[in-house]
Amino acid sequence: MGLFKRLRDVFGGTEGSIQRSIYPFRVRCLRCKEIISGQVDLKNDLSVDYERNRYVVRKLVSGSGANRCFQSIEVRLTFDMNKNLVDREIFGGEFVDDPAAH
Ligand SMILES: [Zn+2]
Repeated sequence: MGLFKRLRDVFGGTEGSIQRSIYPFRVRCLRCKEIISGQVDLKNDLSVDYERNRYVVRKLVSGSGANRCFQSIEVRLTFDMNKNLVDREIFGGEFVDDPAAH
C-alpha cells in the first residue's frame, strides 16, 4: 500500500496540474456492456446556465462498434462555478466510477 500511495503521489502531482481542465468519465453501455471513456474539456465544452449559476455540458459517446452496437450514450454533467461536479445524468448507459480516479 505504501508503494502504491507513493506512486499515486508522483503521478498525481504531475498529471494533476496538466490535466486540470479535463474531466474524464467512464460509462457502460446498457445494451452491450462495453465500457467507454469520455472526457469533458472544462475550458471549451461548458456552457453557462445563468439562471442556476452553473456550468452544464452535454456529451454523446458511442462505443467502438466491436460488439456491433452503435448506441449513443448521452451524458449531462453540471458543474458549479468552481468547476466541481455537482450533478450528472445519463441516458442509455450507466456511470462506471473508478475508485483510483479520486
Ligand atoms: Zn453498446
